[in-house]
Amino acid sequence: MSASRRPAVAGNWKMHKTAAEARAFLEAAIPLVDQYLDRVDVAVCPPFTALEACAAGVEGTRVGVFAQNVHEAEAGAHTGEVSTSMLQAAGAHGSLVGHSERRAAGDTDAQVEARVRAVLDAGMVAILCVGESLAQREAGETDSWVAGQVRSALAGVTPDEQWRLVVAYEPIWAIGTGLTATPEQAQDACALVRRVAGEGIDGDLLQVLYGGSVSPANAADLMAQPDVDGALVGGASLDPASFAQIVAAAA
Ligand code: PEP
Repeated sequence: MSASRRPAVAGNWKMHKTAAEARAFLEAAIPLVDQYLDRVDVAVCPPFTALEACAAGVEGTRVGVFAQNVHEAEAGAHTGEVSTSMLQAAGAHGSLVGHSERRAAGDTDAQVEARVRAVLDAGMVAILCVGESLAQREAGETDSWVAGQVRSALAGVTPDEQWRLVVAYEPIWAIGTGLTATPEQAQDACALVRRVAGEGIDGDLLQVLYGGSVSPANAADLMAQPDVDGALVGGASLDPASFAQIVAAAA
C-alpha cells in the first residue's frame, strides 16, 4: 500500500444475497466499517436484483455499490443483459468488468474493452479484473498474459478519466479455492499491472487491488505490499464481521 493512493476494499457477492439479505448485511456492516470510511474506499458488488436495496442501504455513507457485470450496448436485443443506464437508475456507482467467472462464461477481451469504455462513458467507475490460470502460471506466462489483458482492456482509457478506473489482479487459481497468492506473487503482479497501465495513463495514481481467497487472516500481509492498494474479496465479503476485519486491515 502506498501513502499516495487510497486503499480500497470491494466485496464481490457473486450469486449470493437477496435484496432483504443485502439490506441486513449493510445494517450490520456499516457500523463496523464507518470509522474507516474517511481513509478506505469500501464497496459492495451485489447481484443485479439487490442493487437498489444496496443503494438505499448505503445512502448517506461513502460505501460504493457496484454491479458484477454490465453490457456494452445501451439497449437492444440482449436477453439477460443490463446496460450502464439501467445500473445508474438502480443507484450503482459502477461495475466489475471482466471477472474471470464472466470470462469463463464467454466474455471476450473485446467485450471487456467495450464494457470498460461503456462504464467510463457513462461517468461510472469500472473495476477491471485480470489474472492468469494455474496452467499459465506454471508455464511462466503470467506476465505476458496479464500484460496483454491490461493493454487490451485499457486501450482507449485517457489520463483524465483514469480516476474512475480500478484494476484488480485476481489469479484464477486463487479465486474461491482457499489458495492465496503469496504477498510476493501479489506484489509482482500488481506492480506489473501498474507498469503496463502506465503506458497509457498515470500508473502511480491507479488503484490496483489483489483478489483471490483474501480473508481476515491474510489481508494485512497482502496489503502491506507497496503495489497492492487493497482487495477484491469474494467469500469473505459475505459476512459483515469478516468483511469489516478486511476493511480494518486496509486502514
Ligand atoms: C472474487 O470473487 O473476485 C474472489 C476473489 O473470490 P474469493 O475471495 O472467494 O476467492
